[in-house]
Amino acid sequence: ELAIRYQQPGWLDRLRSRPVQNTVNDINFSLHQGQTLALIGESGSGKSTILKALAGIIPPSTGAGYFEGEVLSTQMNTRSPEQQRSMQLIFQHADAAFNPRLTLYQSLAPVLRRWFRLSKSECREKAAQLLQEVKLNPDYLDRLPGQLSGGELQRAAIARALAAQPRLLLCDEVTSALDVSVQASILRLLSRLQKDRDIGILFIAHDLALVRSFADRVAVLYKGRLMQLCTVHQLTSGPLHPYTRLLLDAALSPGAPLPIIEQGAGSQPGIPLQGCAFQDRCPHAIPGVCNTESPPEQCSGDGSLRCHLPPASLVPARENRRMA
Ligand code: SF4
Ligand code: MG
Repeated sequence: ELAIRYQQPGWLDRLRSRPVQNTVNDINFSLHQGQTLALIGESGSGKSTILKALAGIIPPSTGAGYFEGEVLSTQMNTRSPEQQRSMQLIFQHADAAFNPRLTLYQSLAPVLRRWFRLSKSECREKAAQLLQEVKLNPDYLDRLPGQLSGGELQRAAIARALAAQPRLLLCDEVTSALDVSVQASILRLLSRLQKDRDIGILFIAHDLALVRSFADRVAVLYKGRLMQLCTVHQLTSGPLHPYTRLLLDAALSPGAPLPIIEQGAGSQPGIPLQGCAFQDRCPHAIPGVCNTESPPEQCSGDGSLRCHLPPASLVPARENRRMA
């Protein structure tokens, strides 16, 4: 089980004097073993920041992540070996994740040897098994990354992540750089591996059809705030946070990307936001309330949403159930 309560992991960005757009605040969710949670939201909503905070790349200023009951140190290199092994990251661009001058075996073997005591022949055999598990020919062990297609390379990246026998995969848009047909096969692969190995998956997605077919639960983010946490089923049955509704309405056809919505005037970088992050776009905003008070976290179904309106008033009308 993974739980997270983070405040503003954006401080590093500030130190590097980049705009503090990716600051996230008061994010709080959990992921059960073997489950898949999708992080959705526009670019700049803080999805990658959360993933990087969990991976120990960007430490949060306050708050903590918990993994299997133990607190996650904010930096990867101060985590216990077990935590480092258990949590593996897969990136969007697999080509950048491999050293172009090393064969796949030369990239896989150090991971295997780091975590497991293996003889040379056992290591080779284990590496071949991993390639088979991701449906790559074991002969590929002697190939260089440049000799593989994008999809094959992403499979190799998955194999390398699996080499550590992780309990949790953090996936940063792992299919968005690939052709649609290849995307589907990578997702089927991840689904199967997840079932076989009971791995939790936290993934960033830009495609609602993909979320629907692959995730169990969804965290909807806007401007670094968690708007709604719900099951995939709840996306079709409500109640829906006004921002979740806007996302669904904008992505009418299956496979349509999530809309890119211009960041409104409500949050200049660096200026703390008052009230609801969605106030300047929300058709239901209550003057004097939504622009001054942070919306409360309310239970709704198996999840929660943050809004001043009661969840009962946010059940979608029948004609809006397009996701069904
Ligand atoms: Fe809209 Fe107010 Fe709810 Fe925010 S808190 S989503 S502005 S109604
Ligand atoms: Mg991002």
